[in-house]
Amino acid sequence: MSGHAITRNPKRRKMGNGKVKIVYSKGKHTKHGCAICGAIMQGVVNSRGSSGVRKKSKSERRPNAIFGGILCTKCRERAIIDAASIKICGDKRIEDISIKSRHFVEEAMKRVC
Ligand SMILES: [Zn+2]
Repeated sequence: MSGHAITRNPKRRKMGNGKVKIVYSKGKHTKHGCAICGAIMQGVVNSRGSSGVRKKSKSERRPNAIFGGILCTKCRERAIIDAASIKICGDKRIEDISIKSRHFVEEAMKRVC
C-alpha cells in the first residue's frame, strides 16, 4: 500500500493592504492517482490545454469503463468483484469492505445486475 498524501507547500503572499495571505500553490498538473491505492493510472490524459485533453476524442480521455479515471484497473476490478460478491453471491457484506473503497463498491453494486 502506497497511499501517501500529496503535501503542497503553502506560500505566504503579501497583499496590497499589508495582510499576508497564505496561498496554497496549485503546482503543476498532478497526475491522477487511483482514489483507493493512489497508483498512477494509465489511460488518463493528465495535461490540459491544446496539447492535452482537447485533441483527444472522448473515449481517449479516460478509459470508458466504470470508475474509469478514478480507480486503477486493480481497484476497479476489486470493487466490481466485491460488489458482485455482496449483491449476487451474498457471501460478503458491505461492512467487510474497507471504508476507503466502500463508496466505490456501493457504486459498483448499482451497476452490476
Ligand atoms: Zn488502485
